[in-house]
Amino acid sequence: MASNPTSEVDVLIIGAGPAGLMMALWMSRLGIKTRIVDKRTDKVFSGQADGFQSRTLEILDSFGIGERVWKESNHLIEVSFWNPDSDGTIKRHRRAPDNISGMSRFTEAVLHQGRMEAFFLDAIAASYPHPADPSGTPLKVERMVLPTSLEVDEAAAEDDDAHPITVTLRHLTEEEATPTQKLSNLSDGLFRSNLAGDDVGEMLAQSKGRADVREEVVKAKYVVGCDGAHSWTRKALGPKYEMKGEMTDFVWGVMDIVPITDFPDVRTRCMIHSASNGSLMIIPRENRLVRLYIQLTEVSTGGRVDRSTITHEMIFKAAQKIIAPYKLEYHYCDWWTAYQIGQRVGQHFTKCDRVFLAGDAVHTHSPKAGQGMNVSMSDAYNLGWKIGLVTKKIMPRKILSTYELELLATFSGRPQKDILDETGVSMDDFSKAFNMSHMFTSGLGVNYSPSALVSKPPEMALLLESDKEVQHEGSPVANSKLSAATHCKPGMRFPSYQVVEQCDARPWTLHHKMPSDGRFRLWVFGGDISQPAARERVNALGARLEKGVLARAPRIEMGPAANPFAGTARFRLDRPPSVVDVLLVHCAPRGEVELLRDLHDVYHPFDAKLGWDYDKVFADGESYHEGHGRAYEGYGVDPEKGAVVVVRPDGYVGLVTELGEENWGEIEKWFEGVLRMA
Ligand code: FAD
Repeated sequence: MASNPTSEVDVLIIGAGPAGLMMALWMSRLGIKTRIVDKRTDKVFSGQADGFQSRTLEILDSFGIGERVWKESNHLIEVSFWNPDSDGTIKRHRRAPDNISGMSRFTEAVLHQGRMEAFFLDAIAASYPHPADPSGTPLKVERMVLPTSLEVDEAAAEDDDAHPITVTLRHLTEEEATPTQKLSNLSDGLFRSNLAGDDVGEMLAQSKGRADVREEVVKAKYVVGCDGAHSWTRKALGPKYEMKGEMTDFVWGVMDIVPITDFPDVRTRCMIHSASNGSLMIIPRENRLVRLYIQLTEVSTGGRVDRSTITHEMIFKAAQKIIAPYKLEYHYCDWWTAYQIGQRVGQHFTKCDRVFLAGDAVHTHSPKAGQGMNVSMSDAYNLGWKIGLVTKKIMPRKILSTYELELLATFSGRPQKDILDETGVSMDDFSKAFNMSHMFTSGLGVNYSPSALVSKPPEMALLLESDKEVQHEGSPVANSKLSAATHCKPGMRFPSYQVVEQCDARPWTLHHKMPSDGRFRLWVFGGDISQPAARERVNALGARLEKGVLARAPRIEMGPAANPFAGTARFRLDRPPSVVDVLLVHCAPRGEVELLRDLHDVYHPFDAKLGWDYDKVFADGESYHEGHGRAYEGYGVDPEKGAVVVVRPDGYVGLVTELGEENWGEIEKWFEGVLRMA
């Protein structure tokens, strides 16, 4: 028998849901030779996840997709809490903002998962042609393909050039790849629900007898299992990777309908606790749709629920009972499903820092908190640039150990229970729990553990069991000085404030200047540089960076999405840019600063073909039309002292230090711990 064809790839992604697509987007932006396979025939078209948290929207915006989601989605601004009155009738007890004010320029928004998946596919296509990927083949999802075996050559795991993972892939026919329930034409989402079992066995059994079964062998440097809650990849890694947690007895139904009702808050996010019929959550969506999460008290019995007993009529009747005495009807139902709540987390996220698990493959959540899709994307967002820069030999392999460290700490800090499942909770307790969980659910409270990538002084160490520093042997560890920028916390996301571009007076929020292109940002808060002493200090730092960090840091080739000039064959830059991007925010009167005359070259780098780069210097001052962003105040920087903040390619703060010369060594130390410096 002829042996299976064999090929090599840098990264193989298994599963093209939110986690897999985020991973694929990073790989396409960094020009990494990648394949992504999915057992299904197509992407999600309706239903499933719909809630985008503030941090997710910021992340999508850094890839240029945020505005599309923002424009099409419905924005959740307010939440109202309904509880039974003394006579048992539900009554609105409180209204509150749905988001913590001033934390992000995005509030929570809702749009169905299928639309978001389409945006991802467009954004991936826009990454090509990429100068770093000479294959010239844009990354595309290969559908109806699944893995049947996975082996890791552990002895070769630390060899940078090895392809130590061997995966056998099987190509399915359309019929084999279509779940049985879909063939029966039921317009529901039960086949993707966690009430459904894994269908991989069924698919493989169907293709077993076929004479023309097509298999191939792929040798990969890295494999990322993004294959959902029943993850084949996780199982292939062995029992050590099983998820821990409980599958509760609570069963919930979900319906996307256009409601006809006299309930007054149907276009507001609502939490409704009825006296004896369970709870209902209302999420107003795009296109007049409303999503209802309905607790099914009648099927909430012990053990696993038989999904064949659940119908949309049964779910809707439960909703009508909870919302009574208000009337609820509908003519149009877009999608419905049911699920049993299970909040579970894996104990290990990687094998040898070669095979990684991301998304539902390694943690599951109650869908009502709008977490699953968001957290799944944020896992892959954390991992993608690390794998990309290690594959490009810009960072050493040891950095990959921060993935498991950072995610374990994130999950151990999360509230375990979903308060909406509890009965007999007072309105006060419910509101308190809702507010407390907000920093977690919005994604803005993520606080990564200390490591080479996150320099935290001891006083900032978290009181979490998992918050232990990864000691990288032989690596220097830089020290942050938090007092330099009191609102920039190492391990947390770099906040965004408005500043005014020095060269043309356009107001920008700083996040706009940090696209996800794989580069680190070194923000210099230079103070009032119209004063000679402050200007000299900023320029002296520029000279030191030019000879030190910038001379020694690797360069990175960027595709057309990040740099319109970098990807075209007819116009290539002489030298790709440094992986460290230096930017300056001063607080001098803008009119008293001449960009080219007053500032060192690192703040307006010169390219022989493109001239000066004018897009690196900003003033914290009044804009003509959009007010004053008060960025120094927002970041907690004293204008007299200034500060330096190093931000990782995923927007999280790595180092905070003072601007004075005695601190420059810390900046160099930080990059030596993270990059493969010359
Ligand atoms: P998935 O989205 O499950 O994607 C996994 C992908 O891998 C799929 O495309 C699958 O076909 C593919 N795959 C699986 N096995 C294999 C294999 N062996 N080989 C190849 N490919 C494979 N989250 C929210 O944030 N808000 C919500 O409102 C919400 N509602 C939900 C309602 C339901 C009914 C369900 C089931 C989930 C809901 N979620 C919600 C959760 C959210 O959909 C998931 O958390 C999110 O989709 C996880 O993303 P993922 O990429 O990790 O996995």
